[in-house]
Amino acid sequence: MSELDELAAVIRQCDQCPLSKERTQAVPGEGNDQSEVMFIGEGPGFHEDRQGRPFVGASGKFLEELLASIGLTRSQVYITNMVKCRPPGNRDPFPSEVEACSKYLDAQISFLNPKVIVTLGRHSLTKFFANEKITQARGKPRAWKNTVVLPVLHPAAALYRSQLKDVMLKDFQAIPALLGDEGPSSHSDDQTSHQLPML
Ligand code: URA
Repeated sequence: MSELDELAAVIRQCDQCPLSKERTQAVPGEGNDQSEVMFIGEGPGFHEDRQGRPFVGASGKFLEELLASIGLTRSQVYITNMVKCRPPGNRDPFPSEVEACSKYLDAQISFLNPKVIVTLGRHSLTKFFANEKITQARGKPRAWKNTVVLPVLHPAAALYRSQLKDVMLKDFQAIPALLGDEGPSSHSDDQTSHQLPML
């Protein structure tokens, strides 16, 4: 069992914040424990809560399309959320809930030690860059500790505003280059988004 699997077992038993009382089951995260890229969403929704797996609903389907656009499948990456239990009615998690769960995300980052962290939406962006606005930060990779954080929009946003699909597809094109892979993004003419402003 990997450290990530052991941690997932701990998360499934967690009762350290009120969200644990409302969940069907916790959603620790899943994927390849050797992956160099980690995706962090906000929190489980209805389907994730039922299945115990992240991004299995409509936004998960679009996330899979985004991954496919850069030649990846979800089994090659690691996917998790800021909070591991569904906030009732899909409300935003309270700061106290994010705080209670942050030790799990911190441990997942430290066990996986990814080259690239892709934040999906504004909630996970603020973990790394507290005062940034998603509309300004998206698509611009930033150095964070010994890794690179690429903020992108949340896939759910594009479900309601289809023009945002193209924005997300474009932002995902930066990922292969950040991983040091040859891939579709190596032909991108938008080189500026690959520069890494240091903090
Ligand atoms: N939205 C998220 O932020 N995470 C999920 O797992 C599903 C939908």
